[in-house]
Amino acid sequence: MKKILVIGAGPAGLMFASQLKLAKPDWRISIVEKNDPQEVAGWGVVLPGKPGQHPANPLSYLERPETLDPQFVEDFKLVHHNEPNLMSTGVLLCGVERRGLVQALRARCQSLGIDIRYESPLLSEEQLPLDDYDLIVAANGINHKTSHFTEALAPQLAYGSNKYIWYGTSQLFDQMNLVFRTHGKDIFIAHAYKYSSRMSTFVVECSEETFARARLGEMSEEAAAEYIAGVFKAELNGHGLVAQPGLGWRNFMTLSHDRSYDGKLVLIGDALQSGHFSIGHGTTMAVVVAQLLVKALCAESSVAAALASFDARAMPLVKLFSEHANSSRDWFETVDGRMHLSNAEFMQSFDARRKALPPLPEALARNLGYALDR
Ligand SMILES: Cc1cc2nc3c(=O)[nH]c(=O)nc-3n(C[C@H](O)[C@H](O)[C@H](O)COP(=O)(O)OP(=O)(O)OC[C@H]3O[C@@H](n4cnc5c(N)ncnc54)[C@H](O)[C@@H]3O)c2cc1C
Repeated sequence: MKKILVIGAGPAGLMFASQLKLAKPDWRISIVEKNDPQEVAGWGVVLPGKPGQHPANPLSYLERPETLDPQFVEDFKLVHHNEPNLMSTGVLLCGVERRGLVQALRARCQSLGIDIRYESPLLSEEQLPLDDYDLIVAANGINHKTSHFTEALAPQLAYGSNKYIWYGTSQLFDQMNLVFRTHGKDIFIAHAYKYSSRMSTFVVECSEETFARARLGEMSEEAAAEYIAGVFKAELNGHGLVAQPGLGWRNFMTLSHDRSYDGKLVLIGDALQSGHFSIGHGTTMAVVVAQLLVKALCAESSVAAALASFDARAMPLVKLFSEHANSSRDWFETVDGRMHLSNAEFMQSFDARRKALPPLPEALARNLGYALDR
């Protein structure tokens, strides 16, 4: 029997805890979460495949995923020069509300006997109860306030040069929409797709110069949302944009590590490596890395050996994910220089932005296949 503490009740911590409990029912696993149960940041996310058929989709681990009202998207629409360019996403994507997903994964953990303590942040190394546990799993996401628990796991931090905001809207986007909009001297980009039968995610990004020129930082939340809705009025068709309290305009934070563990403390999910939202793989990575850690703990006889084996397996995948995410982020942040391209040239450039790298979906599938064989 081992005693394990998980810090953070997001997708990574919840997937790890529930999958380990199923594999090792007599181990004692508990979770501490900073927020109250209702407070889940973000609107909807896209995940790969149909629940039940795709093991990288966390809905596949829920008994009744259909109650989350997931939406399926296969078509991709890129708008450039105000013209739609249609193509297939190449895979079936599943949009789902983030709050519903996280709350369902929490309910699953609790039904397995895992205790979740809310409003219980762990903020510093001094607070880590290392003597009381065999393993502490830090799954505390991108943490803008406390970026690390031990110096040995201090992350490298890089901030994107664009400003972005995560809006929700009642306009339903049946395709994955990517809109490049020239507005006077400025360029705004919207990433939009439906995640329930009532709501869509609408992420907007622009350069710091545009943000300053449009005076978005000086406006109230409502005025800024109205301004952006005006920029995308053709797409929103009279529907408004809603911001979440505390989720204002920010620069994307990429957090990276060269190693995943130190002593009894191991990092998973965004806490280990965050990746730009333009490749939409953060939750999938959280699932795969959580499964790799479960596999290592099941395969090895000591925690120390399990962490060494996990690190050797997970870090190459994490590095590949970060390369994909950074290439994509760079492409979006330098798009001004490509706005003159024809639609065909623009689409080609968009498509090529990650082509030089080994494909990520194959690497994810390979690692997941290995992790689930236990
Ligand atoms: C704009 C945007 C769009 C995105 N779209 C997609 C998408 O379409 N598809 C996709 O797969 N991914 C997407 N992502 C990424 C995805 O949201 C993350 O990768 C994913 O949530 C990571 O899960 P996690 O459990 O590691 O971290 P989180 O989901 O951040 O969970 C961390 C948890 O830890 C808690 N916590 C934090 N600090 C502490 C502490 N000190 N003590 C205790 N608890 C703590 C937090 O409250 C939170 O509940 C997007 C991200 C952004 C920003």
